[in-house]
Parts: sequence; C-alpha cells; structure tokens
Amino acid sequence: MRMSHTFTKTLRNAPKDETAKNGAYLTRAGYVHKEMAGVYDYLPLGLRVIEKIKGIVREELNAIGCEEVLMSALQNPEPWEKTGRFSDQEVDIWFKTELSAGGELGLAPTHEEPMVNMLKSYISSYKDLPLYVYQFQTKFRNELRAKSGILRGREFLMKDLYSFHTSEEDLDKFYAEVEKAYARIYERVGLGDDTYETFASGGIFSKYSHEYQTLLPVGEDTIYHNKDYSVVLNKEVLNDETLADLGVKREDLLEETAAEVGNIFKLKFKYSEPLGLKFSDENNEQKTVYMGCYGIGISRVMGVIAEKFADDKGLVWPEAVAPFKYHLVAIGDSGTKKAEEIYALHSDEILFDDRGNVRPGEKFADAELIGLPYRIVISDKTLAEDSAEITVRATGESRLVALDKIFNN
Ligand code: ATP
Ligand code: MG
Repeated sequence: MRMSHTFTKTLRNAPKDETAKNGAYLTRAGYVHKEMAGVYDYLPLGLRVIEKIKGIVREELNAIGCEEVLMSALQNPEPWEKTGRFSDQEVDIWFKTELSAGGELGLAPTHEEPMVNMLKSYISSYKDLPLYVYQFQTKFRNELRAKSGILRGREFLMKDLYSFHTSEEDLDKFYAEVEKAYARIYERVGLGDDTYETFASGGIFSKYSHEYQTLLPVGEDTIYHNKDYSVVLNKEVLNDETLADLGVKREDLLEETAAEVGNIFKLKFKYSEPLGLKFSDENNEQKTVYMGCYGIGISRVMGVIAEKFADDKGLVWPEAVAPFKYHLVAIGDSGTKKAEEIYALHSDEILFDDRGNVRPGEKFADAELIGLPYRIVISDKTLAEDSAEITVRATGESRLVALDKIFNN
C-alpha cells in the first residue's frame, strides 16, 4: 500500500470526543473513522488488522473441525419469541425496526436463536452430530454507554461459534478443545501474557461459564486472582460458594481491571429445548440436542491490542496482527528509487511512504503513530553503505542492514 495513494490521512490531534486511547490513536493513524458514538468504519489499515485477527481465529477453529457460515443480521422475531428473548424486558439492547409491508424485525445482537432454528433443517439423527458452526458477524446492540473507542460498540464484529452434541460428555470434550484453541488464539494475536480464563456465572444449566479477560486499566470488568493467576474469577461469582469450589480464600485474592475479549458457555438445552432442536438416537428415540456457545469480540480484541501496546508516540502492533510488517520510508531521490525497487518485490508486506512532498521528520512521526513492527529507512546516507536502517517499533532499536538482507528476519 502506497501512502501517496491511500485516501486516509494521519491526524495531528484526536477528535475531542475520542477519549479512549485506542479510539484516539486508531482515528489519528487512519485505521478507523467514527460515524457516531459506538459506530465505526474500518479503513484500509483497520480492515487489514481485522482480517489478520479473523485469519488466526479461523485457522484455530478450522483445526478443531469447525465450519464457517455467514448468517443474516436481520432477525425474524419468531424463534426469539420462543425463547422469550425478543422481549425488551428480557434483552434490553435490541435494535428493532418495522417492515414496510407490516411486521417487526430485529437486528441481531447475537445468533443462538437463528442458528438453532436454521440447523433444525439439517439435524435429525445422531449421525448428523456433533456439529460445530461459526461465523464472523456484525452484531447490533443498543448499549447504554459506548465511549471506549472500539472496545464497546453499538455495532461490532463478533466471532460466534455454536456446538451441537448428542451427550453432555461430548459437549464437555469439545468445550475443552475450544479452551485450548482460545489459548492459542490469544497467544497468537499477542495477548497471551495478559489474558486469563476466568470463572464467570453460568446461568441455569451449568454452574460456571468462562470468560477470557485481558488485563487492561481501561477495561470495564473487575477480576480477582490469586498470586500466580492459577485461579481467576470475575466479580459476579465472587462469593463464599465459589471460593469454596475453587479452594481459595478471599484474602488471598487480588483485584484487577480487565476487558472481556471472549467467553464460552455450556448451554446444554437452554435454546435447543424451547426451539425444539432434536435428534433421533440409535434406538430411534427423540432426544434434545446438547449445545455450547463460544464468542470472541473481534473488533474489541483489536481495540484491546491497540490500547494495551500503544506508547506516547502511537500504536505498536504485534507482528501477527499488524496490517503490514514493514513501514518503508524513502528519503531523497536515490532513496526513493531504491525503495521503489524493494517495494515492487515485497509489496504485500509493506506500507510504503513514497510521498514526495513530506519531510523526513513527519514521515518518521507517522511511522511511529501507525505502529508497524519494522521501519525501513532508505536514504543517501544508508545507500552509501549499501544498507537500509531498520528500526523495531516496540523497542526503538535501530541497525543498518545490507540491502539484500532486509527481509531475512
Ligand atoms: P460485555 O459484558 O462486555 O457486555 P457480553 O457478556 O455482553 O460482553 P457476549 O454477548 O457474550 O458478551 O459477546 C461475546 C463477546 O463479544 C464478548 O466477550 C466481547 O468480547 C464482545 N462484545 C460484547 N459486547 C460488545 C460490544 N458492545 N462491543 C464490542 N465487543 C463486544
Ligand atoms: Mg453486554
């Protein structure tokens, strides 16, 4: 991608209403554009980050046998009425609208009901199970407060996975597989060191669910953990019963602020029962399907990464989710000529600052703001040594590297 060509521009200052660091930097660096509170557009750089995160999630889920779909965002109230969740008393964040032909529609805040309803057309026998179906989908939630940049949106991107089983043992087995896949996902996107699986409330069908919480000072959640983080729980389950279950004492727990980046639930019959999702077993008896559901807030993960690693100069992307690996800065005529040659060979991995009318200092400041892992500078000075200067964004370390060895790392 050429900076002379892209329509986005870096901004010196963040808009006044952008109080969260992630929103401020992502806006200034041209990753997102705010439409209104809690509603963002993803621009070329931002979309690439989203796609990188999705790519990692997709790889890990496909590796445990999941199938990807894309379901409608428009919701027929019918299946939601069967579970009682079309009611605004039950679910207080609905966006609803009217059909011009008459009748009401909802904009999906999540997809349990339509997923179960859809699969009724395909599941009839134990031979059809187990099934693991997921999507990356835009969700709509009329959140009361949306002021943390892309951390809490009224429209946001979620990965939602639903699993379907003939028995509780099979659900438990798959749940454990997802736990492992989630650990790999958070590790790969760069959040492994600070993301913990926490005990959370489970609802009627299982005692606990699990959340994935990333330590973050601006996070909205409070978690409690023992010294070595071998036991972590969230606020809603901090009670005598949970403490006994987990074998910890209240006075040994420390409080910390975190952001929920995902969660997993054993739903059992919560949705399959009211929606009548059944299968016939080996003896031709009709049984209700066991279910689990597993979410990851894709756009929130992007915001958490932005927020967590940013320094006073701008964003700092982990390599696996950076929109490009290299930020190539050309200085002067001969630097530009050489940089053009390099760009032609590696354009997929390079954001190329080929702007002719911009001072080097401004290019460097933009590179720091945009936050790609490696900055490559080619100028008369580096060319005199047949080299380029490579600077690591995260550490600020610079070194001269021979031109033919730039891409060896
Ligand atoms: P929260 O407690 O933060 O509102 P939730 O319990 O409502 O989250 P789910 O409905 O289970 O979350 O959604 C799955 C994941 O989607 C969450 O773990 C979170 O990462 C993300 N998420 C939820 N709400 C939002 C939102 N308004 N904006 C961005 N991401 C969200
Ligand atoms: Mg919520």
